Amino acid sequence: MVSALVTGATSGIGLASALALADAGWWVLATGMESAEGANVARQLEQKSGGAFIAGDLTDPEIPSALIKSVVDTTGSLDLLVNNAGIHFAAGLDRLDLDEYDNLLAINLRAPVLMAKLALEVMLAQGSGVIINIASEAGLVAVPGQVAYNISKAGLIMLTRSLTADYAARGIRAVSICPGTTRTPLVEKAIASAPDPEAHERMLAASRPAHRLGRPEEIAAAVVFAASDVASYLNGTEIVIDGGYTVV
Ligand code: NAD
Repeated sequence: MVSALVTGATSGIGLASALALADAGWWVLATGMESAEGANVARQLEQKSGGAFIAGDLTDPEIPSALIKSVVDTTGSLDLLVNNAGIHFAAGLDRLDLDEYDNLLAINLRAPVLMAKLALEVMLAQGSGVIINIASEAGLVAVPGQVAYNISKAGLIMLTRSLTADYAARGIRAVSICPGTTRTPLVEKAIASAPDPEAHERMLAASRPAHRLGRPEEIAAAVVFAASDVASYLNGTEIVIDGGYTVV
């Protein structure tokens, strides 16, 4: 049995990825903050290739190691980590609250670094493993008005590259997936908090050649591909799924 751990799997991209991996034959431990949604995810995973849900805050010092241990105790291995959990807020540097900055970096960057470090211990012992970091178009170009988020996603891309540089020769693959704006609760919250939500949504769609937002399933398909053995020579780089945002 191949086993995966997907963070932030109670909604949006993480939920779609957990379900798509289960459809592709992976046993999946889903995790996230919302227990009620998590129970629903666990039921869906059980009907596919098997899985479970554990609720937890990734900034809680106990949670990351408990999650990794749970996968290994249940399945005997950890073949895939998907670092997906993340948050977003809008602010340029002049309006940046440093406490908010620290909180965002703790969730979007420190937690993935810790999760990757813990997963790596298991994967290096196995001689194989894949770590997928859900970064963003905002890690590649400076999306205006969200400096903290941009920094966190650029850091995640460099985490991926560093994992490959240091551990590819020992059987580890790391991949960044860079979604463009995708319709999820995170984006719906950002739209709702804009001064003119409808205009903001139109702007988000119009700012990319595809003239629409992405769907979580369109990102999940890349997660399944990057995790699979057919992607065995894909290592350290980014898969950009952004409706063309970063090419214009
Ligand atoms: P979402 O808000 O739908 O889901 C976020 C998930 O992260 C939830 O499961 C939540 O429980 C979890 N989470 C948040 N804080 C946590 C914490 N402290 N501890 C544990 N779990 C926590 O978001 P989404 O839009 O699906 O985003 C998923 C990832 O994709 C994020 O990293 C986000 O930055 C990235 N991303 C999203 C978009 C987009 O447009 N939606 C674009 C590019 C990148």
